[in-house]
Amino acid sequence: MTPTDVLSRLKELSEADMNPHNGRMFGHIYETGDPQLRTIAEEAYKMYMWKNMLDPTVYPSIITLEKELVRGIGRYFNLPENGAGTFTYGGTESILLAVLGAREHYRRKKGRTSTMEIVLPETAHPAFHKAAHLLGVKTRVVKVDREEYTVNPEAIASSLTEETGMIVLSAPNYPFGTIDPIREVSELVENKDTWIHVDSCIGTILPFLRLEGAEVPPADFTIEGVTSISTDMHKYGYSPKNGSLIFFRDRKLREHTLFTYSRWAGYPLVNTTILSSRSAGSLAASWAVYRYLGEEGYRLNARKVWRARDSIINGLRKLGYTVQGNPLGGVFSFTSSDVNVFILAEEMRKRKWYIQAQPGSQHLGYMPSIHMTIAPIHESLVDEFLKDLAEATGEIRGKPLPPARALEFAEKTGLFELASKDPTRAMDALAEAIGLDKGAIGDEALVNELIHLFPPEMVEEVLKYFISYVYS
Ligand SMILES: *Cc1c(COP(=O)(O)O)cnc(C)c1O
Repeated sequence: MTPTDVLSRLKELSEADMNPHNGRMFGHIYETGDPQLRTIAEEAYKMYMWKNMLDPTVYPSIITLEKELVRGIGRYFNLPENGAGTFTYGGTESILLAVLGAREHYRRKKGRTSTMEIVLPETAHPAFHKAAHLLGVKTRVVKVDREEYTVNPEAIASSLTEETGMIVLSAPNYPFGTIDPIREVSELVENKDTWIHVDSCIGTILPFLRLEGAEVPPADFTIEGVTSISTDMHKYGYSPKNGSLIFFRDRKLREHTLFTYSRWAGYPLVNTTILSSRSAGSLAASWAVYRYLGEEGYRLNARKVWRARDSIINGLRKLGYTVQGNPLGGVFSFTSSDVNVFILAEEMRKRKWYIQAQPGSQHLGYMPSIHMTIAPIHESLVDEFLKDLAEATGEIRGKPLPPARALEFAEKTGLFELASKDPTRAMDALAEAIGLDKGAIGDEALVNELIHLFPPEMVEEVLKYFISYVYS
């Protein structure tokens, strides 16, 4: 293809995509609305995109960038002088390193060979379950309060066993935006060797909200028991994907996460991360955005998010929606007793807004809800958003609530019976019924209702089938 054809083909393909920059998405993107920020990130990315982070002795500036970023952002989490940090390619990778560190710490401390357990609230990010799956450790899930959507410290304390090597708490969690009682838990943990990880992947905004005067409880290294903290540059650090940081209270603990190998014929391998070869572009972009914004810029953006969040929450309440728990950062969720929120998401999609349906689970006691990630740009779009939301709400109020449609559908198609007798055929029937055979999901609201209705183990199987299907 000619250069022109290559680029025009990309343009053509991306026409079906949402626009991440116009402020109409309440998830996936953290748009500031500042065109200069984007330009600086793009220039920095371009300058470093061909450089490899594999061997920093080849490009020494890469070490400087990473050190400055770790110290620069670490300051706001009170990273101790003898602490350390690593730049990773995302929250999941930071979490993998935290779990790896905890596992090695657990094994070496007492020469234990038993399988380590992680105690974590059910609101913790799935990345911890993925890390446990990959690293051969177990998870023990603790229920959260259904009014506050935070975990009871006593419930954590009473789940600890001989095998507990790690406790995970979120500041805040993704589904509800509530902050777990970190200080309270750390005070209850008797074994001071237990690794406490604070997942602040979506909480880079918290220190700056605090500086702006918001009441946000401490969620950092000032709490004695906190061992590691993850925070994502590619969320409220406002840099492009991929960028995240993992901080360790002590340099020695970070050493558990380093991988070295010199028993082969090639170069001596030293990795600080899961990935080995990777572009330095995203490190340079994260560093550039951090230096461009500085404390003043992060505070200004935190203030914008705070104002937009509160205005949207007020508007939602006026329309009769319920905000779950007490969200203290940039994300929250809402639910309804008389509006089918899955249909609401579809109606908003028709109006070119993206709000994220959280199917929840009848089996686990989670209501259908909508997740909202507030970005600084939303401050200027609050009125337009609420106007469309009011209109959509008016149109669909009174439609059957979940999982009425899913039940009717399952009955009509005999899905329940089929699922227990012949799961594969059940999945084929399901794929056809939701329009997958035509290449896309026809009725996403119905799919969300089905996810809500069916047992999570079955949903997980269907999702694998779904992914195989769409990529085939
Ligand atoms: C986004 C997020 C993660 C995982 O981050 P990725 O960057 O998607 O890998 C982990 N924890 C929380 C609370 C998050 O919001």
